[in-house]
Amino acid sequence: MLWEQHCCLPLLPSADIAELARYPLGSYLSVNVGYAPQSTRDSVRLIDQFRRDALADGRFRLVETIADAVDPDPETIALAFDLEDSGPLGGELDTVRMFYDLGVRSLLPSYNYANAAGCGCLDSVDTGLTGYGRDLIRMLNEVGVFADGSHCSVRTGLDIAEITSVPMIYSHSNFAAVWAHPRNITDDQARACAATGGVIGINGVGIFLGRNEPGARAERIEAMADHIAYGAGLVGIEHIGFSSDFSFDGDDFNAEVARNPDIFSAEFTRWGPLQWTPPEDLLGESEVPGLDEVLARRGFSAADRAAVFHGNFARVARQVWRH
Ligand SMILES: [Zn+2]
Repeated sequence: MLWEQHCCLPLLPSADIAELARYPLGSYLSVNVGYAPQSTRDSVRLIDQFRRDALADGRFRLVETIADAVDPDPETIALAFDLEDSGPLGGELDTVRMFYDLGVRSLLPSYNYANAAGCGCLDSVDTGLTGYGRDLIRMLNEVGVFADGSHCSVRTGLDIAEITSVPMIYSHSNFAAVWAHPRNITDDQARACAATGGVIGINGVGIFLGRNEPGARAERIEAMADHIAYGAGLVGIEHIGFSSDFSFDGDDFNAEVARNPDIFSAEFTRWGPLQWTPPEDLLGESEVPGLDEVLARRGFSAADRAAVFHGNFARVARQVWRH
């Protein structure tokens, strides 16, 4: 069983939902449907498209109840959606309810840079959540959507932990103590998240792992295991999950990065085109040893590995999502 807390199809009409079937049947996938550049209308259109295409395909089902995600049907892939910025809310907190009804189960306030809700991880001045951002966290709690601190500034992440009344998550964030990058989180952020009962999803992106060489596929898996082991030592394995951030069209995303220097600083571009960890490498279906095998070799028990791959995020979903 696999709980993939964040992956990315192109945010375009050309996106092919069938790509998601590279994950095994029985998986839960959260698919990105917008970040800072998308309007409410853009994200709703994308969700409509993804929902329609998923239902027509037959291998997918759309998450409505908590059970749809946490007790997976082994014959289908369960799909929900996430927003990487509060911009697509259009400044209206009530749109959180509308997005929930369309299947959005996770939202982060600020993508890399400051907006109406708070500061991002690339800001040089960090004032944390705004008043609107604080109201947003309360609304996410009320509606039953994960409050996510990934891409946010340190203080925004700490503010989320302070305000939330249910567990928060870092959907796809690695540890700055292992690899110093502004997109990675501090030990204080990790401890504060764990104190809410939350989970940190370790991603497979080369520049956040410190292994962005195109050929370093096995090294990326080892680096993911390094971050998982570090997190287990810091906050306990029960607070560590997995969230590859895989981009099904890497060329499209790298073009997006090049087109938007106001959203992606040199911290994203100085290592060359971004490299990801595809599902086949993660799952040990390619020539690269998979993450489960690497973690087993490092002494993680079957129960610990199951918790990282599915159980921990599933536990938090039971606590946060509403029926
Ligand atoms: Zn992201």
